Order: sequence, then C-alpha cells, then structure tokens
Amino acid sequence: MEDGAHEAHASSDEHESLAASPNHHDAEQHSCHSDDSEVENIMQEPPHPAGRDSPDLLPGPRGREPDRAAEGKDRPHTPSQLHLPAAARAQSGSRSEPRLSRRQSAEFDLSSVPISPTRPKSPWGPFDPYNNNEDQGKEYVGFATLPNQVHRKSVKKGFDFTLMVAGESGLGKSTLVNSLFLTDLYKDRKLLNAEERITQTVEITKHTVDIEEKGVKLKLTIVDTPGFGDAVNNTECWKSVADYIDQQFEQYFRDESGLNRKNIQDNRVHCCLYFISPFGHGLRPLDVEFMKALHEKVNIVPILAKADTLTPAEVKKKKFKARLIPEIEQYGIKIYQFPDCDSDEDDDFKQQDHQLKESIPFAVIGSNTVVEAKGKRVRGRLYPWGIVEVENSAHCDFVKLRNMLVRTHMQDLKDVTRETHYENYRAHCIQNMTRMVVKERNRNKLTRESGTDFPIPVVPAVGDETEKLIREKDEEVRHAEQQRDSHSQHEHECEQSAAPHENPEPPPRAETPSEQRDLSDEAL
Ligand code: GDP
Repeated sequence: MEDGAHEAHASSDEHESLAASPNHHDAEQHSCHSDDSEVENIMQEPPHPAGRDSPDLLPGPRGREPDRAAEGKDRPHTPSQLHLPAAARAQSGSRSEPRLSRRQSAEFDLSSVPISPTRPKSPWGPFDPYNNNEDQGKEYVGFATLPNQVHRKSVKKGFDFTLMVAGESGLGKSTLVNSLFLTDLYKDRKLLNAEERITQTVEITKHTVDIEEKGVKLKLTIVDTPGFGDAVNNTECWKSVADYIDQQFEQYFRDESGLNRKNIQDNRVHCCLYFISPFGHGLRPLDVEFMKALHEKVNIVPILAKADTLTPAEVKKKKFKARLIPEIEQYGIKIYQFPDCDSDEDDDFKQQDHQLKESIPFAVIGSNTVVEAKGKRVRGRLYPWGIVEVENSAHCDFVKLRNMLVRTHMQDLKDVTRETHYENYRAHCIQNMTRMVVKERNRNKLTRESGTDFPIPVVPAVGDETEKLIREKDEEVRHAEQQRDSHSQHEHECEQSAAPHENPEPPPRAETPSEQRDLSDEAL
C-alpha cells in the first residue's frame, strides 16, 4: 500500500490492488510527510479526507466559502494576508514567469515579523487564527482557537459511521460497498442456493472495519440484510430490519440512561442505501412497503442498482429518475433530504448542491476489478463492446454517492439520525413509560382506595415484590380496622348500658389515609 493512502485494518489482497489503482489518487495527494508530535501532525493535515484538488468536491452542507471547503470545515481559515494576491499566485504558479522578487515575498514572510512579547507562543503554529500581521499589536483573549481545539479532540477520538444496505439479493450491494470503501468486507459470505432460499428468513449481518486516512480514524460498520426479498413469501420481510434499527435505538437509550454514559458505543444506523432493481417498471410493492416501514427510523437513500444495464436515456428520462421520485412522493415516503444551502452561497456551490439533489436516486455501477481504459488503469466493468468506468461521472453517479456519503454529508446523516430519528424513538419510549406509570398508579389507587397526586416522575417504579407487600399490608390494615370498629362498638354498647347519662370521648378518627394507616399500625 502506498504511503499515506487510505488504510483499512481489515485489508485484503483485492483491497491492496485497488488502493494502488492510479485512479485512487485523492489520498496520495495529501499524504502527510511529517512524523512529528501529534499536535503538529493534526495541524498539518486537512481535517477531512476530502481531496483539496478534487473537481468533484462539493463544499459541505452548512454554507462555507470555496477556499475554506478546500481547507476543511473545522480548520481555521488561513488569514487572507497569508495568501498570495491572485496576480502573484498566477505568477509563482507558472514556471515560465519570473518568480516573486525578494521584496515582494518578504511581505508574506511571517518569520520576519516580531511577535508581540506579551503574547505566549501559540501551540497552533501557522494555524493560529491570530498569527498574522494585522493582529500583531492587538490583545486578544484567544477563543478564536476553539475550532482548533474541537478539531484536535475529535480527530483524537476518531469517528464512527454505520451504513445499512438493503434490497433484493444480487443487485450488487456487496460489490458497491467494497467499491465505496476499498475494503473486502464480504470475504466470508456464504451464498445460499435456490432451495435454501425458499424458506430463508431475513438475516442481519454486521461487518466492522477500522479505516485510517490521513491520520483520521473511521470505524465503519456495514449492516447487511441477506435474504431480504428472496423467499417465496416476502410478507413483512422488512420487519426484522425495522426491529434491528429499533434495538440499536433501545440499546442506546438504555446506555444513555445508565450510570456509565462515558463510553457508550453508538450502533445506531445512520444511513440505509436501498437498492432498487433496474429491471422492473419503477417501484415494486416490496420497495414501497420497506421504505414506508422504515422512513421514520432511518435516513433512506434510494439507489438505482446496476445502472450499466440501462441506457442513459432510460436512466434519465421517463423510465427511472423521473418516475421513481414522483412514485416515492405519491406513497408519502420520506427519503433523506439534503439540507438546503444558504442563499448567500456562491453560485458554484449552489449548482453542485442542485446537481446532487437531482441525482436522486443515485444510478450506480459497482466493480472491484481494475481494467485498462485509454491507457489508464481504472475501476470498471469490461464488456465485449466497451468498458464502463465506475468513477466516471458520465457513466454513473458512483462518485456523487461516495462524495455525499463520505465527504459532504456524513456528519449531517449522523445529525439527522440523532436529532430526528432517535429523538422520535426516545419521545415514543418516554410516552409509553409515562403511560405505564399512570396505569400503575391508577391500579394502586383502586387497590388502596387512596392515592396522592404526585407528579408522574416522582412516583417510583413499584416492583412485584413491593406490590405484594403493600397489598398484604393493606389487607392487614383493613382487617385491624374492622376489628377495632366492632370492638369499640361493643365497648360503647356496654358503657351505654352501664352509665346511660355519661358522654364518653369518641375514639380517634383517622382523617387522612396516612393517619388511617398509622392508627391501624397502632392497633396491630
Ligand atoms: P448482492 O447480493 O446484492 O450483494 O450482489 P453482489 O454484489 O454479490 O453482485 C451480484 C452480481 O452482480 C455479481 O456477479 C456482481 O459482479 C454483479 N454486479 C455487481 N454490481 C454490478 C453492476 O453495477 N452492474 C452489473 N452489470 N453487474 C454488477
């Protein structure tokens, strides 16, 4: 594997050959040449694996300048003083043109500028936002370095992402996942024959791989759904997938409400690529059922599988793209919505954002083999009539999908999972729990013929054993009260017959339920 290139800990031979592919140049372009301390390393590396020079790079969803996008979202913007003026940039970039004169270059040489003696040496080096000529004489508190601190902390911690792939078997899910992340995640996959598949139930399998690129670690989990749509009877075959997603939410909810909330493992599914067959006429009933059942639990991104089996006209025009989206809307299915871009974004950004939205459903081609096309080695599929290139935007939307998933919207997918889908689950759970507590309280009220109107959260959960004891105690209290009443009745009658003119003091009466209980306890 080449230096600095994408590194997967579950690597395989196939992966190595792919990583070495000349087309996989993004990682090479930004390889880190520094072996210095961690801080320095982090500061010298772009925070995202995004290729700075990539023509496909779409700036992130939450408005930023093009230059900043190239520098990375969290990285402080290089002060404009540190950039060469456009004219000078053009000059220095061209070999035939004369270089900058000494005087000109001294303008940009910070080492010659004395740093204010009152200001401590910055640990952020050239990425200190105050490290420019303009700020030299001024005093600052220093909180403009907060983004640096956040960046450093998150890089240290690493990132995680869980992607689910669903759809009929044979639509190219595993090939696409391997192509997307340049790993071989399906080494141990066992394919079933037709007979075995008749009664097959949907399985959920999970593969986790640790990938490292440019010093940034990503724990990638792929959740697959083998058997989905394969059986003769596929009624409710989406159920186990929905249950799996709920289980992950439940686990997270439990962990979050537990004592040790520090090291919670987040297995919530952040995105589901749903593969639609290119062979039918739009959506099949199973596709509609699946998406309807899951659209409020997970971010669904529809994928038009094996796009090389359709002509461009079929993909673009009536057949699929123009047909699938209206159908999805007609059934009230809410697929993942890309965040709107701000009105003050530049036109380039707006156009790329528009193109991305237009690409839904992404028409993709997957391949894990490297072939030679026009003297270049590319990832593609070789047919007798030609080659389809996976990473060629004229052939399919693979690059758009990968950029969206990894470079531009991974964080947004995670945010929507946390803020919308998980919040919905959590609210639903809390509602159910509250209902249960109210029911329990009402039941207790009936049993004890009493009850204090505590606010719901104050009422402690009553265990079976405690419940039993309370009932026994109530029974004893009632029995004691009856005995006491009959006893006092008897005494009263005796006294009346002995001294008819005396007026005896009445026995103490319990006013409140707790007094009743105290009195009964005394009687016991
Ligand atoms: P899965 O069962 O959905 O995981 O599908 P696989 O990834 O195992 O692919 C099934 C078959 O389809 C394999 O023979 C692949 O080589 C082939 N395949 C995968 N992706 C594509 C594609 O984009 N186009 C075409 N024509 N075939 C593909």
